[in-house]
Amino acid sequence: MKELRDKCGVMAVYNSPRAAQDLYLGLHAQQHRGQESAGMLVSSGPGVNTLHRDQGLVTHVFSDETLERLAGHFGIAHVRYATAGCGGQKNIQPLVVTHRDEVIAIAHNGNITNAGRLKKEMEDDGSLFHTSSDTEVVLHRIVRGKHESPIEQIRTGLRDVEGAYSLVIKFENAIAGVRDPFGFRPLHLGKRDDAWFFASETCAFDIVGAEWVCEVEPGQGFLVSDQGLQPFALEQPATPRFCAFELVYFSRPDSCHGDSSIHAVRVEMGKALFEEHPAEADVVTAVPDSSNSAALGYAHASGIPLDIGLIRSHFSGRTFIAPHQALRDTRVRQKFNVIRDAVDGKRVVVVDDSVVRGTTSRKIIQLFRESGAREVHFRIASPMVQHPCFFGVDMPERGAFLANKVPDGMLADFLGVDSLGFLSREALKRIVGPDSCDACFTGNYPIRIDETPGQVIKRKEKPLGKFDYV
Ligand code: SF4
Repeated sequence: MKELRDKCGVMAVYNSPRAAQDLYLGLHAQQHRGQESAGMLVSSGPGVNTLHRDQGLVTHVFSDETLERLAGHFGIAHVRYATAGCGGQKNIQPLVVTHRDEVIAIAHNGNITNAGRLKKEMEDDGSLFHTSSDTEVVLHRIVRGKHESPIEQIRTGLRDVEGAYSLVIKFENAIAGVRDPFGFRPLHLGKRDDAWFFASETCAFDIVGAEWVCEVEPGQGFLVSDQGLQPFALEQPATPRFCAFELVYFSRPDSCHGDSSIHAVRVEMGKALFEEHPAEADVVTAVPDSSNSAALGYAHASGIPLDIGLIRSHFSGRTFIAPHQALRDTRVRQKFNVIRDAVDGKRVVVVDDSVVRGTTSRKIIQLFRESGAREVHFRIASPMVQHPCFFGVDMPERGAFLANKVPDGMLADFLGVDSLGFLSREALKRIVGPDSCDACFTGNYPIRIDETPGQVIKRKEKPLGKFDYV
């Protein structure tokens, strides 16, 4: 499944002699969380701040010369994927304000579900906003409180903020990392010698040589300054609901969740998938890269050999709106190619991590058929996605989901497979834990959603009669 995008990744460091280089490496490791823009703010103390942010990949945004100019021993950084209408230079993070002669900056992974209402209230109160980003609402609320300590500024500022936020915040002499009471998005604390780090994923610590210290728990935060590390709790009670999709798809397999690697969690998903949906086949293959671990689990559990049947190009270029069917097919071929020897004349189990629209899956299956696969058994290591996410993942409208377009009995035909099996909701919950969010599979949202009218699209009572959409 390659149809969803997480919106962001964050990184922060305090007390490092090479802060900009650490932030750069941490962003690079988390590039998969956002590829449209990158930015960082580095400081060496009150009044000495350098900001650089631009559209593009981390390697394009930051040159050696730029990193040299980003002098200082602490700072925060961000990679971003913006939804349509929310892009543009102004919205690139970190967002920065100067308030009472203090420079405060913020970087955010998540989505504030009541941002529209809060923004209107604040505008009615005289606030001026410079971006269309929900993050600016959070920044304003944090800076405008008249409090002596950054911790009280954060606690008060976030009191009425709802939704998903893993934040890193730079104050005049400190940084903070804080996570919403549901803990939808990940946030971790790391350490290397006297330097402290926050990152969305633990793979960012590996690249800078830092040790993982702990997860920032839902509803928890840490302030790091010359006084050391100060933990604090938000005013709202914690109700953990970690995003199941982080484990299914978004996070890198070499990152950790609890005591396990994401890879190990996905292997378990693959094993459970075989138990629920066995297949008689000659070979198991993955839709790379995020399905590799689940395919390995399926192969181990089934005893069917694992082979590399599909290659994904990492240089397929930007996606574009293709006006003709031929060009749309080319887009999939740009990205994927089948190794004919691995599948020709064979019964093939193709394991994918998830299916959203189903259109890419359909074309990938077609590639296997064209390469001589005798049978294709499609196995998906998550339940069917049926509901949009409001907590920081870009998803299509409800009507675009495969589950809402094609009736259950016609799914295998639509995808062109000999058999089809999705991991059950129960198995997913068992593997990812009871305190997880699975709303995009079940519709059970953990919090009330301020849906705009355009986002509420009812499931079709009757399926479409033809399959000529993209
Ligand atoms: S709705 Fe889905 S993608 Fe969004 S936080 Fe919940 S599990 Fe994750």
